[in-house]
Order: sequence, then C-alpha cells, then structure tokens
Amino acid sequence: MEYNIGDIVRTKKQHPCGSKLWEITRVGVDFKLKCLGCSHVIMLERHKALKMITKRIEKEEGRN
Ligand SMILES: [Zn+2]
Repeated sequence: MEYNIGDIVRTKKQHPCGSKLWEITRVGVDFKLKCLGCSHVIMLERHKALKMITKRIEKEEGRN
C-alpha cells in the first residue's frame, strides 16, 4: 500500500499516551509519524513503518 503525507494510519501497538492513530508527516526511505494523541513524532525506516501500520483511516474518522 502506498502512503502519502497527511494520511492518518492506525498501528498495531499503541503509543504510551493511549493513541493508535498517527499522521504521516514524511514518506521516503524513512517515514515520520506524528501521534494524534500527544503530537510526539517518531521516525522509522520504511520497512518498519510498513510493518507497524495496520490500516489507513479516513481523515474525518481519524481526527473526529
Ligand atoms: Zn502519543
């Protein structure tokens, strides 16, 4: 699956803040994900990010 900047995705493991939703802020060799719960930003290698992401969420649903 292809991802774009601004996509909201769900991950297998929840962040310590309790959120499983992330916004993609960078794609490429590395992915940057911003937690929608606490705005924490993480950077992951592409293959790790793809393993971690379970699905893409519609933006309206992700932001409520
Ligand atoms: Zn968080």
